[in-house]
Amino acid sequence: MIKKSTFKGEPGGPSILFTGRVHGNEPCGEIALKRLVDNIENGSIQIKKGMLTLMPCCNPKAMELNKRFIDVNLNRIMSADLVETYVGSYESEIAPIIMECIDNHDYFVDVHSFTENMQPVVICIDDRNKQSQKMAEICGVKRIELDSPIITKPGSQMTIHYARHHNKPSILIEAGQHDDPQSVEVAYQAIVNILIHLGMIEGEKPQPINHEFIVARSILYHEEGQKLIFPLMERDYIHEGDPVFETEHGDIIHAHDTGLLFMRNQKTPVGEEYAYICDVYDDWP
Ligand SMILES: [Zn+2]
Repeated sequence: MIKKSTFKGEPGGPSILFTGRVHGNEPCGEIALKRLVDNIENGSIQIKKGMLTLMPCCNPKAMELNKRFIDVNLNRIMSADLVETYVGSYESEIAPIIMECIDNHDYFVDVHSFTENMQPVVICIDDRNKQSQKMAEICGVKRIELDSPIITKPGSQMTIHYARHHNKPSILIEAGQHDDPQSVEVAYQAIVNILIHLGMIEGEKPQPINHEFIVARSILYHEEGQKLIFPLMERDYIHEGDPVFETEHGDIIHAHDTGLLFMRNQKTPVGEEYAYICDVYDDWP
């Protein structure tokens, strides 16, 4: 149902799983992982030790339709209970395959992309785990998002939540905009950096970068009858008191919070998030 490629080096090394296209409309992970398959098969990259498993396209039906998902968001149902809740959906058949594959590896990395044009981010919800922290730091992406009640919600589990519950160091990379060729480069470089870091392939370690650590504190929701008047895509920050929405009666609603705007999506449907409002730190908080 889901194609996977496994490559082995000398025994004794770590094992790692990379997944792409958990959301069917996010091609960059699939393209980057297929490039890695090609480079291993043509001999330009050699696996020195350990085991590498690549699942470039985790939601093939949604991929064919270039949709985020068919019945339910695959990256929200990653637990046995949630699979049971959504039994009968297409994604409930896929989730157990991914969970089992996470179980069979030491490390896990999930590659995604954004709807809007935004700077890449690594999501590291396993932010008390040194190995997860290290993967987030060395993959070459400046911005690192940590766990918060906004990322970890009741009744919803991402792939990286499943990995954390099972003590597998893990990160999720949002490599850029869905169809931007640059997002493929960000994803591919991150994958290579992680493999070098784990000693699984030969290569130069990346230069350390000054990271921006962000924690989501509140959400800007799209509510019925409110028109967004804030220039969401032109601003990185929002400040308390900024005019944000206009109601049907012409009343202006002002921002309650100050912070970095993250995961911005101007075209979000009613009931969903326009953006998260975040605190920013220059080290692991
Ligand atoms: Zn995604």
